[in-house]
Amino acid sequence: MEEIYLDNSATTRPFDQVREVMNEMMEFSYGNPSSMHHMGYQAEQKIVQAKKVLAHVLKVEPKELIFTSCGTEADNLAIIGTAMANRRNGNHLITTTIEHPAVLRCMEFLETQGFRVTYLPVDRDGCVCMEQLEQAICQDTILISMMYVNNEVGSVQPIAQTAKLIQKINPKIIFHVDAVQAFGKFVIRPKKLGISLLSISGHKIHGPKGIGLLYADEKVKMHPLLLGGGQQQARRSGTENVPGIVGLAKATELIYQSFAEDIKRLYDLKRYFVEEISQLDGFYINGKTNEESAPHIVSVSIDDIRAEVVLHALEQKGIYVSSGSACASNHPEISRTLKAMGIPSRHYDATLRFSFSIFTTKEQLTQTIEALKQIVLVQRNYRKRD
Ligand code: PLP
Repeated sequence: MEEIYLDNSATTRPFDQVREVMNEMMEFSYGNPSSMHHMGYQAEQKIVQAKKVLAHVLKVEPKELIFTSCGTEADNLAIIGTAMANRRNGNHLITTTIEHPAVLRCMEFLETQGFRVTYLPVDRDGCVCMEQLEQAICQDTILISMMYVNNEVGSVQPIAQTAKLIQKINPKIIFHVDAVQAFGKFVIRPKKLGISLLSISGHKIHGPKGIGLLYADEKVKMHPLLLGGGQQQARRSGTENVPGIVGLAKATELIYQSFAEDIKRLYDLKRYFVEEISQLDGFYINGKTNEESAPHIVSVSIDDIRAEVVLHALEQKGIYVSSGSACASNHPEISRTLKAMGIPSRHYDATLRFSFSIFTTKEQLTQTIEALKQIVLVQRNYRKRD
């Protein structure tokens, strides 16, 4: 049975070249980058080279890059680190209701520390409204944190417009963008866009798990969250995960090598999948599906089914998808995103997320649709009998 992996928003299969460079690092260049001998120097140089690759893709300075253990840590450092360091300038933070828990939990923590947080609502497509954002900004606002691409429905937020609005109203406001689902799918130039902080995660782009990256504009004041040996200019102590760093740089290099054609192919796949699904009775696509949405995520609500049952029935056929947001937790709870978008409550536990990667083929999608049709038919028949 061929494996059809359509859960790429949860995590991706690492590129072979990523595995190779990481193995090489563990076999030959295992020195501690802080050590003063040759082995240390060799490891340090690998970090320098990796930073060059990442800085080139993002068009930023290598010294503005901080390696973390995951996207979650990058979000935590960006939000808690800057809120704490800048609280003299104000205590108001803005985010959206559909952020990943890595952002929402930070905001909730900061509320317990005396910060005030505005959670912006989203429209039926899962996008924030610029007028509501403008109204929310006040004299006390120090930080806006907005995800680039939503992990559950693939909606794309108005990042460039938000950055422009910040420039117009108060350029001192720090703008953090969680780009964990967007990096590798969009060309992102934080400096050009006016983004002060940007979070990235290795395992979403065919890189390894256990490595994240925070771009932090050198002008932004930020408290470290990890204290210790003072690595990474004391912004993030802890011995660097050199194999992970090298793996992340390799994945980035490969993703952006044939970027335009790969993304076009992903949008073609998405269009095909959406067209086929839309013809089925009682199937609904959540959010936009055109090029104003992410190329790799399709959220589908289905009448008269339970997502979990369909998920496992698909699994029996070697097809892997997700209900809600798999990487957030293994305890399913009502999706905040679907709720915020005003999706009917009967669909909260009847929604599946299909997420593609450059390894996904049209044939795999055709097989998935066929399997889905059969499974849903059976489930609906059972339900009728109840
Ligand atoms: N932000 C978003 C939008 C995500 O989708 C995820 C993971 O799915 C994260 C943050 C957390 O990233 P990591 O799994 O690397 O901690």
